[in-house]
Amino acid sequence: ELAHLTGEQVVNIGSQNMNNQVWLKLAKRVNTVLKREDVAGVVITHGTDTMEETAWFLNLVVKSDKPVVMVGSMRPATAIGADGPANLFNAVATAVHPDVRGRGVLVVLNDEIHYAREIEKQNSTQLDTFKSPNRGRAGVVNTGAVHFFNKPAAPHTKTSEFSVDGVNILPRVEIIYSYANLGRDLIDGAVEKGAKGLVLAGVGNGNSTDPALAALGDAVKQGVVVVRSSRTGSGLVMRNVEIDDDKMGTVAAMEFNPQKARVLLMLALIKTSNTKEIQDKFFKY
Ligand code: ASP
Repeated sequence: ELAHLTGEQVVNIGSQNMNNQVWLKLAKRVNTVLKREDVAGVVITHGTDTMEETAWFLNLVVKSDKPVVMVGSMRPATAIGADGPANLFNAVATAVHPDVRGRGVLVVLNDEIHYAREIEKQNSTQLDTFKSPNRGRAGVVNTGAVHFFNKPAAPHTKTSEFSVDGVNILPRVEIIYSYANLGRDLIDGAVEKGAKGLVLAGVGNGNSTDPALAALGDAVKQGVVVVRSSRTGSGLVMRNVEIDDDKMGTVAAMEFNPQKARVLLMLALIKTSNTKEIQDKFFKY
């Protein structure tokens, strides 16, 4: 019904083709379409691999109360027990539910509804891949019957300060994955190549090796904004616990995993490169 209303061609967005430019184009298109009075909401089909990143980006830059529901499938259409048709049905049912407005971008899969802010792909192949590890699911949807459990935890869409109006390029932000023996070369290389921001996918509470931390400290001195996140898959990375952020000039990612921290940092860098102001955005959103 919604696809009919918008008149959009139904094209699945695959993760292999996902990039900043597609995000900008998609967000602008969604904003344009949602302004139409005859459009009740948008359902977007998308590969599951990067769905959480696209959902989180849209959650911060879509300027409408109308529903934006993203949906994918874990099994191909040719598989026995393909999940795509039921997921799509549930996504449309969620988008037309009377209580869906004002919840920001949602992801529907495997009979579950997740908030863009909370969702994370946690399994490479299983149907129950999507989890919201810190705050739990938004709700469930069984053969079209929708039940919401939670309200969104933070400002989003219309109450978010971020916008893609007039934005044609996003600041370059790279993710550095931490592990035992990580040296400084990848960090120095990213800075040399012009990264404006770096996200550390840190061990534990956003930590890393001495050489990597030294390189990140040097990056900060060169004006690169460094956000410390965690590779663990859940929990918070907080300021000044294992790492002295005040001294190092770094930002703590709080609840955001590395790929979501990257999205928020890109949008924040459009507005400011002041570390304190960027930290405040990680507290707020
Ligand atoms: N690799 C695919 C993608 O995210 C998997 C899927 O379609 O869910 O594009």
